[in-house]
Amino acid sequence: RAKSSRKGTYVRFRTEMHDALLARVQTETDLRHALSRRELVLHYQPTVNLRTGQVVGVEALIRWYHPTRGLIQPMDFIGMAEETGLVESIGAWAIRECCRQGARWQRYAQPGGVFHVAVNVSGRQLHPRLPDIVRTALTETGMPPGALVIEVTENILVKRSEEAIAVLRQLKSFGVRVAIDDFGTGYSSLSYLARFPVDVLKIDKSFVEQITDRNSGTEGTELVRTILHLGRALRLGTVAEGIETREQYAALLAMSCDYGQGYLFSRPLPAEGIDTLFGGTLVAGLPEQRVVYDATTHL
Ligand code: C2E
Ligand code: MG
Ligand code: MG
Ligand code: MG
Repeated sequence: RAKSSRKGTYVRFRTEMHDALLARVQTETDLRHALSRRELVLHYQPTVNLRTGQVVGVEALIRWYHPTRGLIQPMDFIGMAEETGLVESIGAWAIRECCRQGARWQRYAQPGGVFHVAVNVSGRQLHPRLPDIVRTALTETGMPPGALVIEVTENILVKRSEEAIAVLRQLKSFGVRVAIDDFGTGYSSLSYLARFPVDVLKIDKSFVEQITDRNSGTEGTELVRTILHLGRALRLGTVAEGIETREQYAALLAMSCDYGQGYLFSRPLPAEGIDTLFGGTLVAGLPEQRVVYDATTHL
């Protein structure tokens, strides 16, 4: 009896493994066609100047509208895209697409400034071809180089530092800005950080969450404060990710964090949502509106 039930478990396990493998192979095949079938889209999450409440730009976040499975989040396919190498073509498309929108959104820039569009880039994209891909996207779309922000995670820089640093330097030579995403979750040392050609530190949402987490006491707040001091010492801009509550917002503002993103201000929106946010569908005959989203009125 025991034997047969063990065998039953084994068979069930094998079937499950087999099904999981098939599903994975199917997803890979689907992902190979996702770009040409126009199933990939970028959503954009506003970045807010915490002091003034003005939207200074957006971050592009990829989504996959699968024909049968519906909306798939990046966590569920970026890993596969990296393993299969598809992330290079998907990433090149994302860069071009956000430059195309970004060129149009310059009308929402503050006078004399630019409206930033940040795009996430994975380790596999930080190869010597990336600068050309970015330069072509900028020139063909008319996106000002200084409005584009390339986001890379800390670990990429630590793991592949020499090649990655060379690529980032080249990007910066055309005026593109570089941000370190999920800062604080990786393993970069202070000496590494000083060597990275970066402009912005994005504080990971796990730290922002701890600011008002009663269980973590004041530790979370102190960690964020330390990162903000570090940012100032290195003359980097600071962006806090994942701001969900007024308390977090108030605490970050009090600690002089420059910018923030999070559901408190806005979820990631389709491109049209960004235009709506600014009252953007401009009515013919009316002067161009520079409607600025005032975060404080939503608090
Ligand atoms: P990330 O770049 O750190 O993006 C922030 C993530 O936090 C996004 O998840 C965003 O939707 C989510 N988020 C924003 N505000 C809040 C908030 O207030 N609360 C909470 N709980 N979450 C918030 P998303 O869109 O699922 O993206 C996940 C990750 O996938 C991104 O993390 C980024 O690493 C990666 N990713 C997204 N788009 C791309 C892409 O085009 N290329 C590559 N290589 N990676 C991408
Ligand atoms: Mg990011
Ligand atoms: Mg992040
Ligand atoms: Mg993240």
